Amino acid sequence: MCSCERFRQLMMGLLDDELTPEERTAINDHLTRCAQCREEYQELLKQDKELKMLSIREPEDEVLARLWKSPYNRFTRLTGLFTIMFGWVVLLLYGLYEMGRDTATPVIPKIGIAALVIGFMVLLVLVIRERFITYKIDPYREVER
Ligand SMILES: [Zn+2]
Repeated sequence: MCSCERFRQLMMGLLDDELTPEERTAINDHLTRCAQCREEYQELLKQDKELKMLSIREPEDEVLARLWKSPYNRFTRLTGLFTIMFGWVVLLLYGLYEMGRDTATPVIPKIGIAALVIGFMVLLVLVIRERFITYKIDPYREVER
């Protein structure tokens, strides 16, 4: 079909939403009749979608996912986490300090409590480290999809 070449130009315009109503009608009319162009248009549509997902990531596609994954949101979650951990550390250090001053309590329970506190802090550091690693990896994961 000799008119197909002309419609190929219109397909690009259709993808970018740059057509006049007349052109739009013409290309739609042709697409319903010409299987070859329809196939080609589907292919262009697919490529166009992939391109947009890589570059602009259209907001209407996945508004909720983007909001949840946005750096601001991640920052907020991390801040909340660190604030809670900071509170724990302050309380634990205060407990240790008070325990050191207190000479009435026998030594063995003190050692036990100190071991619990130190163990908790080690776990805390592990959790923080894990959060940091996840934080660093996340942005790249998004691009891979
Ligand atoms: Zn055609």
